[in-house]
Amino acid sequence: MKVFKFGGASVKDSKGIKNVALILHSHSRGNLVVVVSAMGQTTNALERIVSRYQSHQDYTAEFNLLKEYHSGIMRDLFPEGHPAWNVVASSWETLAQQLHKSYSSPDQLYDQVVCFGEIVSTQIVCHYLIEQELKAQWLDARDYIATDDNYREGKVDWTTTCNNIQQIKKLQEQKNIVITQGFLGRTKDGYTTTLGRDGSDFSAAIFASCLRAESVTIWKDVPGIMNADPKRMKAVTVFEELPFSEAAEMTYYGASVIHPKTIKPLATKGIPLYVKNFDDPALPGTKIHECRVENLPPLFVFKDNQCLISCKVTDYTFVTEEHMSTIFHVLTELNIHINVMQNSAISFSFCIDFRESRVKALIERLQQQFEVYYNTGLTLVTIKNYDAKSFDTFRSKPGVLLEQSSRSTLQLLIRP
Ligand code: ASP
Ligand code: MG
Repeated sequence: MKVFKFGGASVKDSKGIKNVALILHSHSRGNLVVVVSAMGQTTNALERIVSRYQSHQDYTAEFNLLKEYHSGIMRDLFPEGHPAWNVVASSWETLAQQLHKSYSSPDQLYDQVVCFGEIVSTQIVCHYLIEQELKAQWLDARDYIATDDNYREGKVDWTTTCNNIQQIKKLQEQKNIVITQGFLGRTKDGYTTTLGRDGSDFSAAIFASCLRAESVTIWKDVPGIMNADPKRMKAVTVFEELPFSEAAEMTYYGASVIHPKTIKPLATKGIPLYVKNFDDPALPGTKIHECRVENLPPLFVFKDNQCLISCKVTDYTFVTEEHMSTIFHVLTELNIHINVMQNSAISFSFCIDFRESRVKALIERLQQQFEVYYNTGLTLVTIKNYDAKSFDTFRSKPGVLLEQSSRSTLQLLIRP
């Protein structure tokens, strides 16, 4: 059995969905579980709907636009009166009902609504595949992926999830292509959870790990994993293969090509991960597996929207472990992750992703004990396996606020 994952960019229009069918036709002999994300920028639109609803603003224009975007795609794929139209219309109705129910937290509401991006996209894709005479079957991923009630960041209950997923093996005996959603799970109490933005890759890894799949293929709009984002740098190279450890580290530093949680479940079971080009499936792409690659070229990762926070001790003493422990304690409590940190005699500085409400809460807490300074709008550049040329070029760039290097990795926090 193999697992395929198609992201939002692959299914952003009818041409993309037709291409999914073509790719699946050429793999229709094998047992397949196909994980699909919401179409294009749908999740962002749903986030805006939720936030407008929560701040008592009118959300109907945004909602109509989203429905019309999907209808436009459907008009290209289905004739009038095709059953897909009713199925999708009823999902939109359920979405509207979910929005108006009462919940224990804003994040719980978010998950009950934002999930419809994936629900609707898989409904459309599955109906189209059936139309193309593929033996496709729609599954609700929430019936399989069990999580806790940490909404927007659901933690997977692996034992229950793996038990549930065994049922899919039986289904596979009759049908050969299972279509299901990325990004979604469910709590014990029956509420939908999401696994964190861009979590569909992780969903694919969960299914693959529990099914002990032969491989996972992530179909993307790039030729494979590259040593830099081609939008930022010229002359990038595509890796033929990468060890799991190297790929995991890349995602840790912010490479957005695969979701950070994807590698571990695959590496522990030795399941190879292919990153392949959606528009040109004949290209080799990248294979991530247990291997040794000598002389990897420098790998550049850019992480935008960073915030540098400096906590200064005010009483002419030095920064002690006790001060740091206080800071780490607050960060843990607020569930904030440090991307890079540095200390000097009188201050401790660290860089985190900028999320306004969280950063505000953090600063308020830290101000009780420190003089706090902060800068936003920064970019964290990480160069793994740097060489002399990349080291010198990046260090001499203007606007470097913080710099750190080890034998293999250079990190610079830059004001762009
Ligand atoms: N649709 C979700 C998102 O955009 C999940 C995903 O695309 O992986 O975050
Ligand atoms: Mg997406």
